[in-house]
Amino acid sequence: MSEIKFPSQRPSRTKIVATVGPACDSEAMLTQLMLCGVTVFRLNMAHGAGTEDAQRRLDLIRLAAGKLGRPIGVLVDLAGPKMRLGEIPNGTYICNPDIPIRFVRGENTSEPNSFTTTYEPLIDDLHVGDNVMLADGTVTLRVSGKNTDSLICEVVQGGAVRSRQGVNLPGVNLSIRTLQPHDIVHAKWAVDACVDFLGLSFVRSADDIHELREILAETAHRNTGLFGEIPHIIAKIEKQEAVENIEEITDAANGVMVARGDLGVELDIAQIAMVQKMIIDTCRRKLKPVIVATQMLESMHTHKIPTRAEATDVANAILDGADATMLSGETAVGNYPVDAVRMMNRIAEETEKLIAKYSWIKQDARTTQRTQDTNLTDKPKTKKQNGSIIAENNLPVTNAICSSAVEIAEKINAKRILIASRSGVSVMGLSNRRSSVQIIGTSHNPRVLNRMNLYWGVIPILNAPADPRDSLKEIVEVGKKVGRFERGDRLVLVSIMGTSSENHNIIYVHIVD
Ligand code: PGA
Ligand code: MN
Repeated sequence: MSEIKFPSQRPSRTKIVATVGPACDSEAMLTQLMLCGVTVFRLNMAHGAGTEDAQRRLDLIRLAAGKLGRPIGVLVDLAGPKMRLGEIPNGTYICNPDIPIRFVRGENTSEPNSFTTTYEPLIDDLHVGDNVMLADGTVTLRVSGKNTDSLICEVVQGGAVRSRQGVNLPGVNLSIRTLQPHDIVHAKWAVDACVDFLGLSFVRSADDIHELREILAETAHRNTGLFGEIPHIIAKIEKQEAVENIEEITDAANGVMVARGDLGVELDIAQIAMVQKMIIDTCRRKLKPVIVATQMLESMHTHKIPTRAEATDVANAILDGADATMLSGETAVGNYPVDAVRMMNRIAEETEKLIAKYSWIKQDARTTQRTQDTNLTDKPKTKKQNGSIIAENNLPVTNAICSSAVEIAEKINAKRILIASRSGVSVMGLSNRRSSVQIIGTSHNPRVLNRMNLYWGVIPILNAPADPRDSLKEIVEVGKKVGRFERGDRLVLVSIMGTSSENHNIIYVHIVD
């Protein structure tokens, strides 16, 4: 059996998700990004050339992580009903407030001042007065007329648009389903490829998540008979409807992304900061990991240093309670992927030093865990609600153990909290307290270890023995050997079910000798 391995350096507690693209998809670059702090790589199916391309990148990621001897998380991001403009003759067009624009059906148009889109029901779904946003929200059109085959729009805010740029329809109820045929193909591939997380774009309701979960479960069942080993679902919040349904969506999903790229166009951009705080708060109440995404270090596409506003944005997302912050184009297509990761990691480290002082998180976590439940048993990890499976992480016994373990660790100034976990739910419980004591996670299940890469403050370690007491012994031995622990160091070990009996939850305090 391979020996357990401590990461060679200590990354920030806040997890970094980096989007893979042409700027970083070599083994050498991926390795460097991991060494600088990336714990989860994102494969964006809205851009890549399909599953073959994604598989090639996935193989590279796993190769690089394998050589480093550490677990890595992989998030495959499904495009959902992402809309784009069709081809524009000459590639660009300047929208001019004096010249109305016509949207027509079909894939191409050669008529002047006309556009097509990839969204077939566009003309049917839109009504006079609706807005159409182009070019990341920089261009606004408003529907002023409509007939069976076209829409006439006045240009409210002019500007340049390019072929295949995104189209957003704020406040419009889309008639199509969230899961598109290409998403289903990609999702099935993701199950086969054993990826850790699946993001779903443009989620509108919990049913979108249930539908995806059913497809994943069916695929997993058919392939291996191993019901349940499916990617964790990350709901990407990028529509007004999703914000309105945030409670049910967060219950249904395993994690959430504040996807500010599209959300900032679909919603009034003035509301974005407060909506971000609200979404993060919801996730923390329900113990679901939450990623803050898009334009975090946007100017680092072309600059080695971010703007003051960007550096502040990363810090504030962490103080809001994000588990992870994400890099998109900065790592996928930017000029400085490594600098961007380093910078994000450095901002995180500086912010984490003062998280207790400047964030409401800790006080809140301590007080919200009281339960009036007299029949105090942990419910299963997933439960049925109206016939659909929801992912329940807020378990009363686990929660009580986790908050006590953190309290003990802080009172005795422990060096580490070690947690042996079967499903990862208890690890979320510890992570949620945002303790200054670093958490080391072990599990017999490599996919649980990969997923810990999204949980704030947790370092997953490979190859630890399945029995938590053996695991503690070995971690202490190796930790001493590599200079992580010395005599007198205190370690708190948490084991939720399975140490000596299914029904025992245990906290140990170990003093290194
Ligand atoms: P995307 O999602 O990068 O896939 O569009 C994130 C966002 O919209 O913020
Ligand atoms: Mn998006």
